[in-house]
Amino acid sequence: MTSDSVEIYCPCCHWEPDGRAHWQCTCGYVWNSFETAAVCPKCQYRWKISQCPAAAGGCGAVSPHVDWYHGLDDLVEELVEETQHAEAATHAHVAVSCAANES
Ligand SMILES: [Zn+2]
Ligand SMILES: [Zn+2]
Repeated sequence: MTSDSVEIYCPCCHWEPDGRAHWQCTCGYVWNSFETAAVCPKCQYRWKISQCPAAAGGCGAVSPHVDWYHGLDDLVEELVEETQHAEAATHAHVAVSCAANES
């Protein structure tokens, strides 16, 4: 048993990410979600879910991102929790709007 036995595949149909950009963020950016642990490289939004891309041969199911990782569950879950804490600190709602008329 080696510690690098972690596998990534869809928890529903076992489709494995092929390294291509199948995931689109709401900001419009398309990238490989598994390269960044589901963080959008453009707007830094962290996706807690990942869809199995039907267009690439997957089943189309939407699953928690962490459920895609198999083999190192404890470690990965810890990692994800850690980064989600970091996100809560750095991603504190960037809902900036101009309210110049408010007095
Ligand atoms: Zn984005
Ligand atoms: Zn699937």
